[in-house]
Amino acid sequence: MDYPDRISLASMSRQSQSAANDTDSQHINIQQQLQQTPTLEDLTECLRFSPGDGRIWLNDQRMQLIHTSSFGVLRREIIEAFGIKRARGIMTRTGYASGARDAELIRKRWPGAELTSVLIAGTQLHALEGAVQVETLNIDVDAKKGHYEGEFLWHHCTEDEEHIATYGIGSEPACWWELGYAMGYVSGLVGSLVIFREVECRAMGHSVCRIIGKTAKHWGNIDEDMAYLNASGPQPPKEPRQEIYLPSDSAHDPVINEPQMIGASAAFTAASHSLKKVAPTQATVLLSGESGVGKELFATMLHRMSPRSHQPFVAFNCAAIPENLIEAELFGVEKGAYTGAVQQRAGRFERADGGTLFLDEIATLSLEGQSKLLRALQEKEIERVGSSKAIKVDVRVVAATNVDLREAVECGEFRSDLFYRLNVFPILLPPLRERRDDLPLLINHFFHHYCRLHDRTLSGITQKATQALLHYDFPGNIRELQNIIERGVIDADNENPVDLHNLFRNEPIPKSVLYSVNSGGALSNTLQNKTETSELSFSNLFTGKESISIDALEQQILQQAVKTAGGNLAEAARRVGLTRAQLAYRLKKSDKT
Ligand SMILES: [Zn+2]
Repeated sequence: MDYPDRISLASMSRQSQSAANDTDSQHINIQQQLQQTPTLEDLTECLRFSPGDGRIWLNDQRMQLIHTSSFGVLRREIIEAFGIKRARGIMTRTGYASGARDAELIRKRWPGAELTSVLIAGTQLHALEGAVQVETLNIDVDAKKGHYEGEFLWHHCTEDEEHIATYGIGSEPACWWELGYAMGYVSGLVGSLVIFREVECRAMGHSVCRIIGKTAKHWGNIDEDMAYLNASGPQPPKEPRQEIYLPSDSAHDPVINEPQMIGASAAFTAASHSLKKVAPTQATVLLSGESGVGKELFATMLHRMSPRSHQPFVAFNCAAIPENLIEAELFGVEKGAYTGAVQQRAGRFERADGGTLFLDEIATLSLEGQSKLLRALQEKEIERVGSSKAIKVDVRVVAATNVDLREAVECGEFRSDLFYRLNVFPILLPPLRERRDDLPLLINHFFHHYCRLHDRTLSGITQKATQALLHYDFPGNIRELQNIIERGVIDADNENPVDLHNLFRNEPIPKSVLYSVNSGGALSNTLQNKTETSELSFSNLFTGKESISIDALEQQILQQAVKTAGGNLAEAARRVGLTRAQLAYRLKKSDKT
C-alpha cells in the first residue's frame, strides 16, 4: 500500500496535504486516494443480510449476530473455567483476530486509501458491528518509520457492560476483546505491532473508556501486554478457581432482582451496586437524579435489603404538603396545639420508628423546616407540635432530590450542615437515556404489567413502535416510559399489537436513524427509504425545528390518497390498506378536531 509519509490527524486537511506534495502528479495521486476514502455509507454497504440462506456478510466474510448477553455468558464461562488472566488472554486474542479480519477487508476493498482515513474507518466498523462508539482524540502515524500513536474514548462498550453486570466495578479494565480488536486492526494496517492499553475503563468506575495505542517499541516494556496477546508465549499463571471474581453484584442478586428493579446496563448496575453496599448499614443516604428515575423504588429496595426490613418504611414527599403543615406531618401534633388539632397524632418520624423514613424532594423544605429536620437527625429525638416533651426515635433517613443540593447550598437555599448530614452516602440514579440498554427489558416488563392490570389481551408491540421507543429521549424518564406504554396498552385493540400511533398520539415522533435490511439484502437508512417511496417529503420531518404528530401525518397521507384516487374513497382506502368505512371514519375524526 502506498501511504503518504506522515500524517497527523490534528493537522490533517486535504489542502495541507496537497500543498505538502511537490509535484502535480503526486497531487493528483493524493486526490485519487482521498476519493477512495471509505465513508460510513460505504462501510455499511459492505454489510449484507441474506436471511433466505441464513448468511450475513461483511464484504466477503461471513458474520453471525449474537446477543450481547450471551457474549457475556460466554465470557463469564471462560473466566470461571480458566481464571481471569487466561480468560483475558483468550478474549484479547480473539478480538485481535477479529480486528485483523477487518483490516484485511479494508485493505482489499480500498487498496489506495490514505492511512489515517482507513484507521478512522476501523473506528466506524467497530461501531457498525455494535461493539462500541469510538471518539477519536488523536491519531499520529508515520507508516514508513513504523510509528503510530493514537488515543480514543470508547462510549458504551458492550464488553464492559457485560462485565459490570456480572462483576460490578473493580480495579482492572475489562474491555479485553475490544482492545484486542484495536490491536489487530491497527497493526494490520500500520504493518507493525501496535499495542493498545486501556488506561480508563467503565469497569473501573470511569464514565467512558480511554485507550492509548503506540507502536510496540514506543511503549518500553510490553511483557504484560504480550502475555495476553501471544497465545504461545509465556502464560500468566493459572489462578485457583476459588480466587476468581465472585459474581456478587446486584444485577444477579435475587433480592434486588425484585420484579420492579429492572436493568442490566452499566449505569443502572453501578447505582444498584452502591445501593447494595450501603443498605446493610445505618448510614443516611441521599438519592439524586432527575424526576421519574425511580428514586422511591430505590429507597424501598434499600429498606427491604436493610436490617430494618421488618420495621416500617414511611415515605413522605416534602413538596406535596403545604409549608405550615410540614412540621405537624413530620413530628406529629398534640391535641389542641392549633385550631383543628382535635386529637393527638403521631408524625412520620414516630411512625417510622425502628425503620426507614424516605423524604422525597428534600430541597423544597423551607429553611425553618430544614433546621427542625436537622435537629431531629442530630438529637435522634423529636417534639410534637404543641408539646415540649422529647420523644426518642430511631429512624434511618433516606432523602431524595432532583436538584443539585450543593448548588442550593451555595445559593443559600439549603442549609450546608443539613446537606452534609444527608450526604453521607450519595447515590446518583441515571436518567433513562443513559441506560438505553435497559429499554428492551423495561418495555417488556411494563407491557405485561399493564396488560395484566387492564385485563388486555394484546399480541405484542410492533417493530415500528419498538424502534420508536428505543430512540426516544424520555425526558420524563421511567415514569414517562411507563405512562406511554400504559396508554398504548389501553389504546390498542384487543388481539392486536400496540402500534406507534397508540403510543405517541400528539407528541413529536421520536427521531429514528436506523439502518434496516432492504429487499436487496443491504442495510439502508429507513427514513431515506420512505422518502424515496412516498410522494410526501419526509426529508425535513426530523430536523428538530418542527414537530409533527402522528395524527397530522396520518391525515396528510389519507388526504393525499384521496387526492390521487381522484376523490374515489374506495380506491383511496385500498391504496392505504384500509376499508372504505375505516378511511371515512379516520377522515371524519380529523374534521372534529
Ligand atoms: Zn472499558
